Order: sequence, then C-alpha cells, then structure tokens
Amino acid sequence: MSHSDVTNRSDVIVLGAGLAGLSAARDLAAAGVDVRVLEARGRVGGRVEQSTLADGRIVQWGGEVVGPSHTSYTQLVAELGLTLVPAFAELPGDDVWLMAEGRSQGEGIPWFTDDDRRSYERIEHAFGELVRSVDPANPWAHPEAEKLDRLSVGQWLRSEGATPNVVRARDVAMLALAAESVERTSLLSDLRKEAAVGATGFYDYEVWEVSRVGEGSATVALRMAETLGHRVTLGAVVHRIDVSPRGCRVVLASGETFTAAAVISTIPAGPLRSIRIDGLSDARRTSLDRQRHALTSKVTVAYPDSFWAADGLNGTSYAEVGMLGGTWVQRDGILSALVPPERQSAFLATSPERLQSELLDELALAFGPRTRDPLQLTVRRWATDPFTLGYITSWRPGDVMGVGPLHGTHEPPFYVAGSDQWVCGYMEGAVRTGRAAAAAVLQQGG
Ligand SMILES: Cc1cc2nc3c(=O)[nH]c(=O)nc-3n(C[C@H](O)[C@H](O)[C@H](O)COP(=O)(O)OP(=O)(O)OC[C@H]3O[C@@H](n4cnc5c(N)ncnc54)[C@H](O)[C@@H]3O)c2cc1C
Repeated sequence: MSHSDVTNRSDVIVLGAGLAGLSAARDLAAAGVDVRVLEARGRVGGRVEQSTLADGRIVQWGGEVVGPSHTSYTQLVAELGLTLVPAFAELPGDDVWLMAEGRSQGEGIPWFTDDDRRSYERIEHAFGELVRSVDPANPWAHPEAEKLDRLSVGQWLRSEGATPNVVRARDVAMLALAAESVERTSLLSDLRKEAAVGATGFYDYEVWEVSRVGEGSATVALRMAETLGHRVTLGAVVHRIDVSPRGCRVVLASGETFTAAAVISTIPAGPLRSIRIDGLSDARRTSLDRQRHALTSKVTVAYPDSFWAADGLNGTSYAEVGMLGGTWVQRDGILSALVPPERQSAFLATSPERLQSELLDELALAFGPRTRDPLQLTVRRWATDPFTLGYITSWRPGDVMGVGPLHGTHEPPFYVAGSDQWVCGYMEGAVRTGRAAAAAVLQQGG
C-alpha cells in the first residue's frame, strides 16, 4: 500500500493532541471540517497528565491551576460539563520560606526588614505602572520596547533602588514557579505577561492560580479526545512538513504521509526544531526558532491528609536552597513542587536511589518529619521529555524583540497554536490559541 493512500487525506491536519491541538480540532470538527490530529505520544493531553491514587484522589503531573482572567480555558471547561473548584490560593495559614539563613513562616515575606517592605511596595507600584504601559497583543509597539526587553527583571529592580532582599524575594518567587531567575528574564516579557491578565503588580497567585478542574485538569483533554474519536492518531511522530498553497504534506518518522489543505502546528518550541519544515518564509522560521522554554521537572507527594494545616501552615513554601523551588497544595493531602531551570542539573545528576530521600529531606525542612512518610512520590521530568523539552515559555533579555511581531500569527496554510504562541504559556494560552487557529482556518475556508 502506498504511503499516500487516499485515507491519509483530510481538510486540515492538527499536529499535537495537547489542549491546543484538541481544542482546535474540536471546533473544526464541530464546523463539519474533516480534521485529523497527529500525536507523537501514546496518549493525549501533552503537558496535562494525571494519575489516580488507590483512594481515588487524582494527581496532576503537569498543568493544574488557572486564574479568573483565563476565560478561554474556563469557558471550555464549562462547555465540556466539567467543574472549577477553588485551588490552593484560598487556603488559610502561613507560607514557609527556606532561605540561606534558615526557615521562617508567616504572612507576607516574614524575613523582610521594614526597609525591605517599603522598598518592595514602592517597586511593585512602579512595576504596575509599567505593566499598564504595555499592550500584551503588541508589546513591540511600546516606545521603549527594545530597552525594556534588553533589561533583565533583576537589572531593572536594582536600577529602581530595590534592596538586595527585594531582588532575592522576587528571584525566589520566580523560581518557585520554575520560571527562569530574575537575572535571565526579559523585563518586557514579564510586563507583557502581567498586562495580559490585567494585573497591577508582580505575579500573584490570586490572579493566576485560584481554580482547578475538580475532575482533574487532564480530563479536559480526555473529554475532547472522546468526542474526536477516530480523528486522533496516536504514536504519530511528525518528522517533516511541506507547506504549499496547493496543499500540505506531513511525513511521520515511520514514513507514513498525510496530506491536507492546511496544517495547524501545536508542537512545542523544542521538539519543533527537529522537524524539517519547507515552504515557510525565513522570517517565520527565525521567529519560531527564537522561542524557548524554561526547563522543569515536577514532583508530587501524596499523604493521607494535609497534616501541615494543624501547624497553621497552608502548604505553600518558597525555597532559596535545595532542588525544589517551593511547594503548594495540589488538593487535600497532595503537595506539588517544581524544580526550577537553574536547579535541573542538581536534580538530573542525582542518582534515582538518593533522589526520593533528598527531596523528602527538603520537604521535612518546611513541614516537619511527617513529610518523610508519603503514600506516593512521583517525579515527571518534562525538561528531558522528547515531546516537550521544557515547561512553559521563557523569554530571556532580547527574546521578545528576537521572536518579534510574527509571534502567534499564521502563514496560511501553516497555522500555529499552543501555549507557546500566547504571551507566556499556560493552559489558557493553549486553549485560546487553539480555538483562534481553528477560527482563522474556517475564515480562510481551509
Ligand atoms: C509541570 C508543569 C506544570 C504546569 N502548571 C501549569 C498550571 O498550573 N497552570 C497552567 O495554566 N499551565 C501550567 N502548565 C503549562 C500548561 O500545562 C501548558 O502550557 C499547556 O498544557 C500546553 O498545551 P499545548 O497544547 O500548547 O502543548 P502540549 O500540551 O505540549 O501539546 C503538544 C503536543 O504535541 C505533541 N508533539 C510533540 N512533538 C511532536 C511530534 N514530533 N509529532 C507529533 N506530536 C508531537 C506532544 O506530545 C504534545 O501532546 C504547566 C506545565 C507543566 C509541564
């Protein structure tokens, strides 16, 4: 049988069955378009993935929480008949900080001096003013775009007279999210990210992380895949794409070939680089190639209950030392933690035999000896997973200008979607760009 068999022809091919690819395909299928989704892995969901404990609790290994301004995601959740429940940001109790000098707990940033507090407040206000001056859809139009992009967040904080502890606090907060350090993050990219959600200050859990899907965030992907049924092909590793107004051709690593009038690529920045793409403009290829991810691994630790609450703790921690950037409560009794990019080397270079005990020792510093006896500890190495090679978008100084205004735009019949194509990653970015790409294809008539 020839690889260009007629059954391998469709109107539109979607590359990747994460939230972006599935939400694009769902809208196209609903509009009567003959769509096929090609997914490299043996499962759908991409960076949303989950397992279930023996007691029925669902454990999230990837994307988890969203904020109130994540309207594309929350609307999709409602359309699928799923429910949003409060996430950890609402939990009462103290945060824990593990700084080089030792442990502290309390409201706000308990290890700050009064001077640090005044400095933080003043500088957060200045940051909020700058956020208001950036159009998230077009940061390149800012009169000082180039300068703001060249500056790292750390350089800017110091130029505003931040105390050393304020710079440290911002660094630790970024690392707890497994974002890059303030020293390697473009100020313009950080301003754009906060402008996209209408924030008035630094990254805030109340803005970004207040809800989660009660049925499990990977269930969003699973529900969409159920509806798409046979349209999703698993185990299909895309190797080459030929783009032409006369039609597109997608070749898998197996040699199997698929053709369609249009292609929507939702493949993350890293894996996309090893796919040969012909027929795109040089400017587009350069822009796609400039995108990069922060690298992370995610650790989840399950206990029978949230025992730390008895000590007045909410399960949130920030760590300047160790491998984990910090923790938060995923759901009752389950802690999530991310390994920040700059600590991946310590993490990946630790023997599997030592890793679990070292991670539990770190948790014990924050929450006491009971952490050493979990029901389950899982480690998901997204940084080295060949079909992710990262985590979420990370923009170094100069990257916003380097990627340029082609970011998130299409070159029909080649369309892009995926969280990398939004301002800063996240499940909202995946759904928003997935549905927008489907709408753009429909508008072009395929
Ligand atoms: C540990 C972790 C925690 C996170 N936490 C949050 C959070 O709390 N809140 C939030 O909003 N976001 C979070 N995110 C980010 C969020 O999960 C992602 O931004 C979002 O799920 C990405 O969806 P996507 O469809 O754009 O990309 P993906 O989910 O990466 O989907 C892309 C698909 O393309 C496939 N693919 C790759 N290469 C090929 C190839 N060659 N051929 C065919 N298919 C290929 C992949 O297998 C994958 O299924 C987190 C991510 C991680 C990893």
